Amino acid sequence: MKSSTKAIHQCDHCGKHYLVKFACEKHEQFCPRKAENFTPCFTCKHLIKSEIIVGDGRSSRAYTCDKMGVGVYPPKAVRVGVIDKYPDQFKDHIQMPFNCTVQEPATEPAF
Ligand SMILES: [Zn+2]
Repeated sequence: MKSSTKAIHQCDHCGKHYLVKFACEKHEQFCPRKAENFTPCFTCKHLIKSEIIVGDGRSSRAYTCDKMGVGVYPPKAVRVGVIDKYPDQFKDHIQMPFNCTVQEPATEPAF
């Protein structure tokens, strides 16, 4: 067994640990706990969560806002590239808004 002492990098927003500084910096840029990345959808009673099958046969989560009547996707979907990879899947969908006028708190979180 080899043992070594290394720096551990921790996200300022959620506390997640990383061994690679660049990975931590990239995470912090998109961390969902960072105030400017927060979308109120996941705390909203109008968010409907479902499972869909994407182009390559894998299942994926899908979200719909029943108040606006539109499919929505989280900012993370843009970062990981699924919007570009499956454009048909996200046709007519919008990114979850950072400020929403129809948001109402859910009694239970959506996830
Ligand atoms: Zn974080």
